[in-house]
Order: sequence, then structure tokens, then C-alpha cells
Amino acid sequence: MATCPLCNQQSDRWEAIRGFEIAQCRQCSHRFVAASLGVDHVASTYGDDYFCGGGAGYDDYLSQRNLLTARGQQFAEMVSRYTGKRGRVLDVGAAAGFLLSGWLAAGWSGLGVEPNQTMCQEGKAKGLDLRCGTFETADLDDVETIDCVSMVQVLSHFQSPRQAMERACSVLSPGGVLLIETWNRSSWIATISGKGWHEYSPPSVLHWFTPKCLDQLANTLGLEKVASKRSSRWINVGHAKSLLKHASQESKLYAVANQFARLLPDSLSLPYPGDDLFWALYRKAN
Ligand SMILES: [Zn+2]
Repeated sequence: MATCPLCNQQSDRWEAIRGFEIAQCRQCSHRFVAASLGVDHVASTYGDDYFCGGGAGYDDYLSQRNLLTARGQQFAEMVSRYTGKRGRVLDVGAAAGFLLSGWLAAGWSGLGVEPNQTMCQEGKAKGLDLRCGTFETADLDDVETIDCVSMVQVLSHFQSPRQAMERACSVLSPGGVLLIETWNRSSWIATISGKGWHEYSPPSVLHWFTPKCLDQLANTLGLEKVASKRSSRWINVGHAKSLLKHASQESKLYAVANQFARLLPDSLSLPYPGDDLFWALYRKAN
């Protein structure tokens, strides 16, 4: 099948999900959508519907403001513990800038890049430095020092994660760090859910990493691993219901979870119980 976008080796067919052929690399075991999506992929996938239409996206993204701002602050404080400073961050896939606001609240400065115009304008109206466009094409020529590039649940959406990480390396200052949070397909919950795992939702998600294959990719780009850990975070019940409803189409396990979630109020926030999300921090050489 298609060549692995991480290591360039051959792959085999794994499954077809929602009409998309998914391949698994023979060398690094990375799973990915084995098709090239058109140049309008970003515009067609991350239109306003992605942020308020439910499905694999969000039923009401703007209602996530408080949770995401708190999450941004947590990440900023965590990165500061490893780098010893509060510097300048570039948040990739910033949406309306909620995570970025958390970084700013923690004493960092910085900016974000976001392809969805509505979200980007929403953040700009709040006074944030957001650049509208894709990470590959956004104008960042005036940006000088960047101490951390943050990609929180973003990397699996790129057609080429390798190119996205190369771009991150090119904007990072020497000694700067790349923060990646993404889903772990080798986790317990992903394994028992099989092809019904909620993250198998092409075409918005195109790649399914393991911590090991992400480390291998970072290594080939000359990045040094600083730390990684299973993510602990809070989720909004309304958003969880929307995702469970979508995933229930493919999985009985999610259908049962959805029945329980329906008993809870949308406004409630709960600790996320899954083991399938992790973050990793990598440092660019001096
Ligand atoms: Zn590979």
C-alpha cells in the first residue's frame, strides 16, 4: 500500500473505516489514511461545522473556553518546569485561542495559528495575536524568538506530520521545545475498542500514533526527548456526549458509555477516564 509518511517504508492494509482505507507501516507500525486528500482538505474538514456541528468535531466549541484555558495554563506551567522559564509560545491549531489564553495567564507571551477564519477572528477580537491560515502557509516571517511550539491534539490532523514537525523545528529557537499531545493507539482503551475506537474518525483524523513511533519520528528530526506522560485532563460532559454519540455508530462499547453519559448534565466537568491520550516534550538542539 502507501509509503509510510513517518519513515518512508512500505505499509499493509489494516482496515477500512468510514470509507477510508487505513494502512499500517511494516517498519514503525504507524497507522494512517492511505490516500492523498485534496488541497481543499483543510477548508472542507475544518469549516465552521467542525466547531459546532457535532460528529467527530465539537457540538459547541466556544463552550469549552474555561476548560481549555485552564488546560493551556497547566501545559504552560508544566513546560516551564522543564525549561526553567516563561518564554514565548506558538500554539498551532489555536482555534479561538483558548489554550493560548491559558499560556498568557501563566506568564508566557505568544501567538497562535488557525485555519478556520471564524475561530481566528473570534480570538483576534479578544486581542490575541492569531494568524489565520494553515501552519504550512501562515506568514510567520516577523516572528523571532519561539521557546515552545505547542501542538495539542493537532498533529494527527496534518496530511504530513513530518512536514508539520519540520516546520515547528524551523520556527523554534535553538534549545526551544516542541510540545505534542495526541492519542495513543497502543493504549488499553484503543486496543479493546478495535476499529470502533472513537479516534478512528477519518477524514478529520488522518494518523494514529503510538508514543514509540512519535519518539522515532522526533528522533529522525534531531529532536531530543525531554519527557512524556499519559494526559490527565477534565472534559465537559456535553462534548463527551457528542463524541460518544458519533462513536456509537461503530462501537457497542461506546453505545453503552453513551447511555450512562446521557444521565449526566451537559454543563458538568469530569476527569477524563481513558488512558488513550498522552503528551511528549522534545527539545531542539542548541
Ligand atoms: Zn513507518
